Amino acid sequence: MKTLLRVLQYLRPYRLMVLGTFLFAGLTTAFELVPPWLIKILIDDVIQANRVELLTWVFVGLAGSYLLRNLCSSMRIRLNNSLEQQVVHDLHVQVFAALQRLSISFFENRPTGEIMSRVLNDTEHMQRIFVDGLEEIITAGLTLIGIMVVLFWLNWKLALLALLPIPILIIGAALFTKRVHGYYREIRKGAAELNALLQDSLAGIRETMGFNRQPYEQDRFGRKSDQCRKDTLKAMYLWSFYSPGMMLIGSLGGALVLWFGTAEVLAKHLSVGELVMFTSYLALFYVPINQIHSVNHMLQHALAASERVFDVLDTVPDVRDEPGIQAPVARFTGAVAFDHVQFHYRSDAPILKDVSITVRAGERVALVGPSGAGKSTTLKLLNRFYDVTGGSITIDGMDIRRVPLAFLRNQIGLVQQEPFLFNGTVRENILYGDLSAGQEAIEAAAKAARAHEFIVKLPEGYDTWIGERGVKLSVGQRQRVSIARVLLKDPPIVMFDEATSNIDTETEVKIREALNELTKGRTTIIIAHRLSTINEVDRIIVVEHGRVVEEGTHEVLITRGGVYSRLYEAQFQV
Ligand code: ATP
Repeated sequence: MKTLLRVLQYLRPYRLMVLGTFLFAGLTTAFELVPPWLIKILIDDVIQANRVELLTWVFVGLAGSYLLRNLCSSMRIRLNNSLEQQVVHDLHVQVFAALQRLSISFFENRPTGEIMSRVLNDTEHMQRIFVDGLEEIITAGLTLIGIMVVLFWLNWKLALLALLPIPILIIGAALFTKRVHGYYREIRKGAAELNALLQDSLAGIRETMGFNRQPYEQDRFGRKSDQCRKDTLKAMYLWSFYSPGMMLIGSLGGALVLWFGTAEVLAKHLSVGELVMFTSYLALFYVPINQIHSVNHMLQHALAASERVFDVLDTVPDVRDEPGIQAPVARFTGAVAFDHVQFHYRSDAPILKDVSITVRAGERVALVGPSGAGKSTTLKLLNRFYDVTGGSITIDGMDIRRVPLAFLRNQIGLVQQEPFLFNGTVRENILYGDLSAGQEAIEAAAKAARAHEFIVKLPEGYDTWIGERGVKLSVGQRQRVSIARVLLKDPPIVMFDEATSNIDTETEVKIREALNELTKGRTTIIIAHRLSTINEVDRIIVVEHGRVVEEGTHEVLITRGGVYSRLYEAQFQV
């Protein structure tokens, strides 16, 4: 109920449309109630009392009420559809905005396909509340009330008989609702898992081909899909008992009315026309009841989906701005300090135990250390993708938790190990660094990043479509485009998480040139996985087992014969 009330809150901005839907639904119902009354006149007055002059009027009345009913119905559908599309649009935008606000941990702990399923499939199911739910419940509810009034007005004894099955129907509905809601929760969860599996398989299609794992993938997908089939059938089977069962009870009520009504006609307490009119209204009475059952069924599915959507909307980001913090007036100069920083992803596995690093504004340092030492993690912490669990990080003496996130991230340029390029053109990808930049600025950034030369040779130059994740570019090209993107952003601090994959020497030279351009006059932290790229840094910081173990220039560290020299020897086998 709480979920339903929350869903209905989305209608608030569209009160007029809701009122319009109510109005036209009411009118549709009112016009629907006219024909049985006209049929009674036809039987009792035109046929039995032989008043032929009424026949034309009855026909006009019938045609008119049908016409008006359908006109109102058309208006109701129109209004309802606009309403529903508006609400679904609002929901999409709201869930997407909520996702943009969430922290990296949210995304790293859930499969992308599962999140996508919440944004698209669950909101789509939620929409059913507005499409069928609202429309049908209004229509059915009004019809039910209208017909009940007419039935009691016609013959209260018959009406009471007709209402006999209602308590059974209510109890049946309550039991069904409780059970089927649980089933639909499972169904939505299963659908999201299937989506996640599909997304994962498509992303890994090259691995599947390379390892010839198509049958394995088909089996995985088949099993998950079969589970979804079984979950869905549970709800369907329940419906297959419930729906005909409820109809049977309704029909028995109808039979009871016929039995008693015929006796009343025979006893001359009721005319034949009145009995026909009563049974016509009675038939109309059970239509909305069955409609309400169907809506309730659909509603349970929609509400299970809504819970999943609200789950996203209600998630509080782990990393967020403190209320009331103000952005500094000027941009940072870029003096970075890690002060006794501790960090863990899981409390039982500390990654950074006590890291203190100071980088002067404009200085270039390289972070090196064995694989898994926590180098890339430091980069995530400086960007506040995660918050430190102990100690603090400052820039220009300011704790980064006291600076608005948007301001902080504006000050840092990040070139990731595997740079992500969006499915668009080269231009769009570079523009991501500064959406207001013109062609001249884009080309200048691309030239400095040593990317211009290959971009102009692409079939459509800067307008070439580079595919999902930039698959149509080589690794080295992707990295240069991502450097151009950061150059356009022009931040005072640059973090370069060096690619671990091996790149040919020529490309490596180009990337190094691009990197030199990028780091000119900026504080630079290079996460060096291969030690060949760190010749031009001012200082090397060595991290091992979650602590800084050595610091100094290449020459100093080599002569010291510690962790760095061991790593260097291992890589170059000197
Ligand atoms: P490499 O040189 O191999 O890239 P690294 O020094 O950059 O290694 P990090 O990527 O910082 O290492 O990872 C440090 C540790 O944190 C690793 O043991 C890794 O398994 C763990 N780790 C990294 N990301 C996560 C995450 N999102 N959740 C849990 N553990 C993580």
